[in-house]
Amino acid sequence: MALFVQKFGGTSVGSPERIRHVAKRVARFVAQGHKVVVVVSAMSGETNRLISLAKEVSPNPDPRELDVMVSTGEQVSIALVTMALMQLGLKARSYTGAQVRITTDSAFTRARILDIDQTNLRSDLDSGYVVVVAGFQGVDEHGNITTLGRGGSDTTGVAIAAALSADECQIYTDVDGVYTTDPRIVPEARRLSTITFEEMLELASLGSKVLQIRSVEFAGKYRVRLRVLSSFEEVGEGTLITFEEDANMEKAIISGIAFNRDEAKITLLGVPDRPGIAYQILGPIGDANIDVDMIVQNVSHDGLTDFSFTVHRNDFRKAMEILKGVDAHIKSRGVIGDDKIAKVSVVGVGMRSHAGIASTAFRTLAEEGINIQMISTSEIKISIVIDEKYTELAVRVLHKSFELEQPV
Ligand code: ADP
Ligand code: ASP
Ligand code: MG
Repeated sequence: MALFVQKFGGTSVGSPERIRHVAKRVARFVAQGHKVVVVVSAMSGETNRLISLAKEVSPNPDPRELDVMVSTGEQVSIALVTMALMQLGLKARSYTGAQVRITTDSAFTRARILDIDQTNLRSDLDSGYVVVVAGFQGVDEHGNITTLGRGGSDTTGVAIAAALSADECQIYTDVDGVYTTDPRIVPEARRLSTITFEEMLELASLGSKVLQIRSVEFAGKYRVRLRVLSSFEEVGEGTLITFEEDANMEKAIISGIAFNRDEAKITLLGVPDRPGIAYQILGPIGDANIDVDMIVQNVSHDGLTDFSFTVHRNDFRKAMEILKGVDAHIKSRGVIGDDKIAKVSVVGVGMRSHAGIASTAFRTLAEEGINIQMISTSEIKISIVIDEKYTELAVRVLHKSFELEQPV
């Protein structure tokens, strides 16, 4: 007998029929003698609908009120899934994040989980209940409802699995595992039977939406056995996130390609090249709580250089405003911004021991006439910033060039 945390995403609970299907799947595990905690997202499209509704009333909704509102999506789902389980004759009970007492910090719309009270969960499980918990939400120390950022139900699932020392956290979604890249963009993408935790962390942080980055961080910190599976297919092992590179692991050099269109690039032209300048530019950005991702500073000409960096698109306007002030202060030659960029990243632990991966990537993009605007590398990834309109082409040609569709 095992304890499973099973998380079902928006599409998996997107209609009454699908909810019944989820209940049947859970019931099969219970029939085998397992204990199950179910974590659910809002029905597909619901979170977006709620956010748009809020924006119709207020273009810049108050974050606390936004959380009160968007958390209702998951509340509907837990009740429906619980009803469907009861309909099958199971004992089941639903909990919102606040009812469980999933305590978070007070960073509305992107809160972090601090603690999970196990009391209710454990006593219900011990009495034979299936416990159904709302993903994506918690409560801060003052009793305010908080949410965990888009895709946050994954994190709820993994955090509960960690708190209860579950045997496995299963993320059921609309694909049957983690692929070499988003299968919606590259139909030839291949499912990976395993992926290392390190690689999954990179893919998630670089834009692969299949798991929220924080869920992967949690899994790493608490060593949660984490698996991604299809909620539509009855059979299949999905993808297991592994902590060690064991003998059975696929030995690919590159494991996958991620992309995101969430960033914007800002360039300060003709910046005086002297000590302290990076701080003068990025200090005010940091003070405004804006995260900077990539940074490029050119070689100087006549003591002047161009300084570029990327920020999240949501922070683009604010960052541009701040930079206009900096521009005047340091007497540079103006600020230009571009919010139509994409970041494409090639990820793989095998890069550590293989040279030439970067040059293959650059050659591949050059052959398609795609201009590279920025580059950043780490031991296990190369990220390249390009014009947004080439995103899909770049992902496709890189996928092909690294032969990711071929089994290893
Ligand atoms: P859920 O609603 O179940 O949480 P998401 O939409 O958040 O589902 O995540 C699943 C989606 O992630 C897939 O439909 C797929 O388009 C996308 N995706 C992006 N990168 C990958 C990848 N490398 N492997 C699998 N899916 C990916
Ligand atoms: N419903 C939330 C979202 O759409 C959380 C989730 O699905 O994980 O982002
Ligand atoms: Mg998701």
